Amino acid sequence: MRTNLRRTARAALTLLTLCLALVAASAAGPTATAQRRRGEARQAARVETRQVGRTDSGLVARAEQYSGDRFNFEATTPGGARVVSVGRPNPAALGAIDRGLGELFAVARRHGYGARLNHSDYTIFIARADRTRDSAGAYSPDIALGAAQYAGSVYDQGGYVYAAGLVLSTQGCAFVIAEHERSWQRIANVARYEGEHIVLYHNDRRLYSKTADHSRGGSHPILQ
Ligand SMILES: [Zn+2]
Repeated sequence: MRTNLRRTARAALTLLTLCLALVAASAAGPTATAQRRRGEARQAARVETRQVGRTDSGLVARAEQYSGDRFNFEATTPGGARVVSVGRPNPAALGAIDRGLGELFAVARRHGYGARLNHSDYTIFIARADRTRDSAGAYSPDIALGAAQYAGSVYDQGGYVYAAGLVLSTQGCAFVIAEHERSWQRIANVARYEGEHIVLYHNDRRLYSKTADHSRGGSHPILQ
């Protein structure tokens, strides 16, 4: 029901920079267990939240329109990124966002980029997941979106697609991801990949334009 409403609301969307269900497998490296342990330890702490700041009400409204959710919590990651979420965010999720953005900024600096390479430049919305498993059964919290330019492509699930993340504002450095309960490395990957579109927008507009629409091919990472 909810997904139906959301699909209708999104039917009018035209060009979206969204990143389709990806990555999961790359999360399982030799350090996965250690990361999981550290993540569990961090969960003991409760994240400090505040009321969602509405000074940029246009951005919040856009996030609510695209996701069909209401965002009630706002927090800051240890690295300084702003997180606006439907539920109280997990400390491990905030740590993963910091890690993903940190990796991205390091790669971007190697390419000589300098714009928007601070955690505090970014706003990450955490929406409710519209599914938690992909078609192969793997844990993959994703957001359903109107198919737009993906209509008729292999990603089209009958008028909508599942995205791991969506860029909300390149200018405002904002993107939305789905709520996770585990697999924190996946959040780090999605943050790195969504952020990648935004970093390219501010540092290499040509490459941004070439890579913003995955329905025309291409995937992440774009910057190696
Ligand atoms: Zn992407």
